[in-house]
Amino acid sequence: MSNILALIEVSSNGDLRDSTSSLLAAAARIGSPVAVVVTRPGAGSALVERLGNLGAAQVVLAESDQAGTLLVTPQVDALAAAVSTLAPGAILTVNSVEGRDVAARLGVRIGAGLVIDAVNLRSEGLTIVATHSVFGGAYTVESTVQGRPLIVTVREGAIEGPADAAVPVVTTVSLTSDARNSAVIDEVIDLVVTSTRPGLRGATRVVSGGRGLGSPEKFALVDQLADALGAAVGASRAAVDAGFVGQTCQVGQTGVTVSPQLYVALGISGAIQHRAGMQTAKTIVAINKDADAPIFDIADFGIVGDVFTVVPQLIAAIESR
Ligand code: FAD
Repeated sequence: MSNILALIEVSSNGDLRDSTSSLLAAAARIGSPVAVVVTRPGAGSALVERLGNLGAAQVVLAESDQAGTLLVTPQVDALAAAVSTLAPGAILTVNSVEGRDVAARLGVRIGAGLVIDAVNLRSEGLTIVATHSVFGGAYTVESTVQGRPLIVTVREGAIEGPADAAVPVVTTVSLTSDARNSAVIDEVIDLVVTSTRPGLRGATRVVSGGRGLGSPEKFALVDQLADALGAAVGASRAAVDAGFVGQTCQVGQTGVTVSPQLYVALGISGAIQHRAGMQTAKTIVAINKDADAPIFDIADFGIVGDVFTVVPQLIAAIESR
């Protein structure tokens, strides 16, 4: 079975991001998962046991003074080093801004082909085939590239599977940073978002609200259901454009793409541009007062009704459990 490198994303507090289990599940689908993690020197060993529990057969700890900064060159260096020693069949990154940046740079560095935004992966002999959901989910297409290794960015949460817990073989690599190529000059943070809710990207549950909520004040109903379910808050573009909620919540073609276990759409019609960002969710629940709303075409469970009548009952039922 060929080695499959999975670039693990680490949050600013040094913890594994939620995308880890999904990326290792994707790697396990086509080979033997090797977790590649870039951390500050000495910080990676605390992550090894959890990576093993999530299915990593091997862990490459790449230590860099630049870990945790906005630079992605350490990740590219770490993967390039692991490619030369482990000869993987594929290299997987999360289809995030960082993951796509790393994947493209690595492709140039090692001369390998790249496919993006895979929602499934399978092996056909030595060939690895990626599945994509395109044109707002209207078509499912497959792609591969000639030669190995193949670099793939994987849609967060799209691939799940039981992990074969392992005690991973650990290798530590020290990366030397070359400040002539890249260095952090200054870091300016102009927006601090403090929320106890899960982030939208990679959330296992998402509650989204649309224009049907009617106003920023009434959009609080979406927050209330999200809190009852421990879910992230999303929105349609119409809700964002109307100022009900910030743009970072927008789900869809020009917003965030999510693949949660549960997606609840409140007062959202289900335009193709919205569906493009959520229709790979495992279970879709829609509440809309229009029985002909297109969202019901893709919903697993649909309630025809007024959100202001249905959702408070739903919250009461959840909280009474
Ligand atoms: P509407 O279509 O107005 O639907 C509101 C729904 O709420 C209706 O179905 C109505 O029956 C229901 N409703 C009203 N009141 C209630 C109530 N009290 N209880 C229950 N139901 C109620 N959209 C996105 O979402 N994301 C994108 O990324 C995106 N990108 C786009 C990119 C392009 C290039 C273009 C052209 C459009 C894009 N759009 C995007 C916009 C998209 O086409 C739709 O206009 C938008 O998704 C509609 O949002 P909505 O469903 O909230 O509003």
